[in-house]
Amino acid sequence: MDSQPGNRFFAHRRRCTCGKDIDAARDACPHCGRIYDDPWTRRFARICPLGTYRELILFLFGLVGFQLLGFLLSFIAQAFAQEVLVGAGLTGGSLQQALIDYTRSAAYSSFVNYGAYVLFFVAVLIVIWPDLAYIAKRQFSKWQNYLIGGGLGIVLIVASILWNIIVILLGGGTSDNQASVVNIVTYSPILGIVITGIIGPICEEFAYRVGLFNLGMRINRLAAYLFATVVFGLIHMHDFASVNEWLNFPSYLIAGGILAFTYDRFGLSASITAHVVNNLYAVILTLIAQ
Ligand SMILES: [Zn+2]
Repeated sequence: MDSQPGNRFFAHRRRCTCGKDIDAARDACPHCGRIYDDPWTRRFARICPLGTYRELILFLFGLVGFQLLGFLLSFIAQAFAQEVLVGAGLTGGSLQQALIDYTRSAAYSSFVNYGAYVLFFVAVLIVIWPDLAYIAKRQFSKWQNYLIGGGLGIVLIVASILWNIIVILLGGGTSDNQASVVNIVTYSPILGIVITGIIGPICEEFAYRVGLFNLGMRINRLAAYLFATVVFGLIHMHDFASVNEWLNFPSYLIAGGILAFTYDRFGLSASITAHVVNNLYAVILTLIAQ
């Protein structure tokens, strides 16, 4: 091996014989096609390395980008609603009350949530765009992985149901996340299926598996699984003082662990399929219950 991977700034770059600086996790140079087979590339053999910096960007999208997009859209929606209400002749207290009513409506939360996911999806596409063909060929060409992903999605559903039963037995209730999903899905079933069911999981798999899990793998596999379970769970906590949120915390450890295992062993097409199956099940169940 004539080029040992360096570890400058945690970036795992290596200088290829063609003279280009490449991600040491990639098993082929994207510039000259030279094949690399060593412990670095073997650790990433079944998953999808995109380079440390782009993985960090994808993870940051999941961590703060989605929230920021939500704030932006809620600001736009409220400014627009105010224009309309003032135009309709409302002033003072009645204007304030109408604005409060609007921010509590399903129309408002749907616009903010669905809008944020669509923008999140566009942002992910922009980040992965240069490697779209590489990702498609490397991760989406084996049909078996979709089947295995679907099966592991069912495992994920069963595991969540079992944990929910335990939570109820312990006297807990649904998490804040679940409660808000019911609202927006019933408001627009089609968008619920397309965005909550499919677009959302795609965005989250890029943020938490290609982003967070890959970053952990650049340290070692144990770190990757710790990131995918503990960090993933902590990100989803809305209130650290709430007993109910802590009761739901293990469900994120379970979901994060199963999705990380799915991605680690069978790649991104499998973890996206598992996540889609899990979310579609929740969306369809919500719609049937109405
Ligand atoms: Zn090269």
